[in-house]
Amino acid sequence: MTILDVARKNGVRIPTLCHESALEPYGACRICVVEVEGARAPVASCCVPAAQGMAVRTETPRIQRARRAIIELLLSDHPEDCLSCEKAGACSLQEYAYEFGARKSRYPSAEKHNYAALDDNPFYVRDYNKCILCGRCVRTCAEVQGDCVIDFAHRGYDTAVSTPINRGLIESQCVLCGNCVQSCPVGALTEKKSIRMGRSWEMEKVRTTCPYCGVGCQQWLHVKDGKIVKVTGVKNAEPNRGRLCVKGRFGYDFIYSEERLKTPLIREGDAFREATWDEALDLTADKIKEIIKKHGPDAVAGVSCARSINEDSYNMQKLFRSVFKTNNIDHCARV
Ligand code: SF4
Ligand code: SF4
Ligand code: SF4
Repeated sequence: MTILDVARKNGVRIPTLCHESALEPYGACRICVVEVEGARAPVASCCVPAAQGMAVRTETPRIQRARRAIIELLLSDHPEDCLSCEKAGACSLQEYAYEFGARKSRYPSAEKHNYAALDDNPFYVRDYNKCILCGRCVRTCAEVQGDCVIDFAHRGYDTAVSTPINRGLIESQCVLCGNCVQSCPVGALTEKKSIRMGRSWEMEKVRTTCPYCGVGCQQWLHVKDGKIVKVTGVKNAEPNRGRLCVKGRFGYDFIYSEERLKTPLIREGDAFREATWDEALDLTADKIKEIIKKHGPDAVAGVSCARSINEDSYNMQKLFRSVFKTNNIDHCARV
């Protein structure tokens, strides 16, 4: 375990920006510095293994000064945009600037980055003027998503997160899962559908299970005035441990579609008419019974839906095998 792991396990708070528990330690931001007795300089607690008998101080005046200086250096090249930034209220840089009293940077930069915001895909915007180069998106894409689509390009002051040859995300291998967006601690990556839909403190978080497939990923719905404005994965919860795919994260609009079926429909001639569930189920049962009576059990077959939960698929095969007496049962995801 690292010093940070031990501290967190024992309820000792150490601030971090580049650290994420699902990722390998990185030691980029240095805000997690602590004093270790006998060490010449403060060390990054996220990268240094804890040892028996080690004496560590996490909140000395020297450590507080170091953390404040780090925040001020980050702010020296950061837009003063908190008033209208989508991340305000949920931004780690903003939180630490407040905590360490970094109101104005002592390191005013003669030059500030002025990148154009990249709006090159349907789901999220990249504004690298707000990027603090923590590498969480890069490492999430490589270590969690396994796609390695983005990395740091250039050197020194020009370092920036980039796709290969700085092409648009759509032209890259990006699968638009948005896991990088969720891991960004500041406002550099923003879900398009949540822009100006509400502040983080106005949202109610509702836990649910993704409706798209049988994996059953755990989600937080960020809800304002009864409307979903963002979806994120639940960290430390099985089976997805915070990850989502493009459908689970961005495909929630269907629930507001006017075309959504709300009642069963029964075909009569060329048209459909609305029916109650009892009527529709009785009709289905009668038709199945009639077919089995006329042609035998193997004349019917069932395909269960990939959006169903495992238990429903299990019950469906049980119905076909034990009640209808046929093994003609399959699942649409089995290709
Ligand atoms: S990213 Fe954070 S610090 Fe930067 S403008 Fe947005 S809220 Fe403020
Ligand atoms: S959306 Fe997913 S695949 Fe694309 S860069 Fe982000 S983490 Fe990688
Ligand atoms: S875009 Fe966000 S997650 Fe990626 S390096 Fe910049 S600040 Fe970190």
